[in-house]
Amino acid sequence: MISRIDLRGDALPEGAALRDLLPRAEFDVEAALETVRPICEDVRHRGSAAVIEWGEKFDGVRISSVRVPAEALTKALEELDPAVRAALEESIRRARLVHREQRRTTHTTQVVPGGTVTEKWVPVERVGLYVPGGRSVYPSSVVMNVVPAQEAGVEGVAVASPPQKDFDGLPHPTILAACALLGVDEVYAAGGAQAVAMFAYGTEDCAPVNLVTGPGNIYVAAAKRLLKGRIGIDAEAGPTEIAILADATADPVHVAADLISQAEHDPMAAAVLVTDSEELAAATEAELVPQVAATKHVKDRIEPALAGRQSAIVLVSSVEDGLKVVDAYGAEHLEIQTADAAAVADRVRNAGAIFVGPWAPVSLGDYCAGSNHVLPTGGCACHSSGLSVQSFLRGIHIVDYSRDALAEVTHHVVTLAEAEDLPAHGAALKARFGWKVPQQ
Ligand code: NAD
Repeated sequence: MISRIDLRGDALPEGAALRDLLPRAEFDVEAALETVRPICEDVRHRGSAAVIEWGEKFDGVRISSVRVPAEALTKALEELDPAVRAALEESIRRARLVHREQRRTTHTTQVVPGGTVTEKWVPVERVGLYVPGGRSVYPSSVVMNVVPAQEAGVEGVAVASPPQKDFDGLPHPTILAACALLGVDEVYAAGGAQAVAMFAYGTEDCAPVNLVTGPGNIYVAAAKRLLKGRIGIDAEAGPTEIAILADATADPVHVAADLISQAEHDPMAAAVLVTDSEELAAATEAELVPQVAATKHVKDRIEPALAGRQSAIVLVSSVEDGLKVVDAYGAEHLEIQTADAAAVADRVRNAGAIFVGPWAPVSLGDYCAGSNHVLPTGGCACHSSGLSVQSFLRGIHIVDYSRDALAEVTHHVVTLAEAEDLPAHGAALKARFGWKVPQQ
């Protein structure tokens, strides 16, 4: 059901050579770029008509209007199951607690007497938040997108999620209800690359946005990569990944359950166990069989995800080597299930989010830990963070110098300008002092 990669024995290689030994998806974001390019171009030229047609092709339903009417949002909230409403409210409450503390304050540094640099944080004006809805529906992703945007102070918040054929082409009612619960009224029935292109280029129904955030499948991640620059993006948050670094103290029942929980997202999801324990590896392999058989999305998602080249049990000689492996892999979600898990977690450098010890499974973070579940995948955790208030802010430096403060530093600026063969840069300062460098 899941393959093994044995890295015991010889010393582990470093960097890219180590990454080459680790599990990798067969179809990656780079390959998906060619699939999404014509979709994005079509939306750019034909607007809503193209969004509707691509939706019909991929989501199997033709809609008359991309914008979701206000009444549909109100109705979805009125009809929401009270238990789901209570769970969403708790998820929102915890997410707000964490994200509110991420707000940035204006800070002024006095560089010299009369010379200051102030950094002020300004929210992005208008954002497009993607909420997946192909194989599963993700009201939790409404929470994870909207809460940090609101806490950052973003004024223009638009949400897009695929049209559902069972719901007259509207996004899933739980998604609409979550939007209504959070006070978001601009919602579009658009999925995949066509939704990202709609946000980036704008259409007759949807004004263009400055930033697109949110998780999605490989096509959503590819469209974000393709249109980055025209729009800002958070990170590529594509098909889910779980890596578990575990030793002999871990419980194979928990390990198997957690691997399956993320394989459940997508046949392209990755589930990777890194362990120095042959016994844990064997017990996890054995445990996967009944647990997979007992769950729901077996044939379409879990089995292909676990059997795919992106998933494996990686055997290492020690937890120390395991740390090197998980750092090279840079998982979206990393669980540490070892003795002294907190100390091991503290040493990890590359991961989207780290879940420490037996009582912090990834599923907790998916819904109700307070942490954000929109996290970088495909190794992007080596250079990017998960979604946060910071994702929706821009830091602007305000430079304020007096005449004396400028005079004091002019000779350095002129010297550096000449060293770069850019004399007009120096002249811009000299012009203020009678075309001379002020005396020190
Ligand atoms: P989705 O909304 O991401 O994708 C559905 C859309 O994909 C469709 O509307 C369609 O437009 C497009 N599509 C489908 N097949 C296509 C094809 N052959 N060519 C072009 N476009 C196509 O929903 P999903 O498929 O359920 O995927 C959700 C994904 O989000 C999963 O992979 C899950 O792992 C991931 N996820 C990631 C995170 C994260 O933070 N990294 C969090 C939650 C979910």
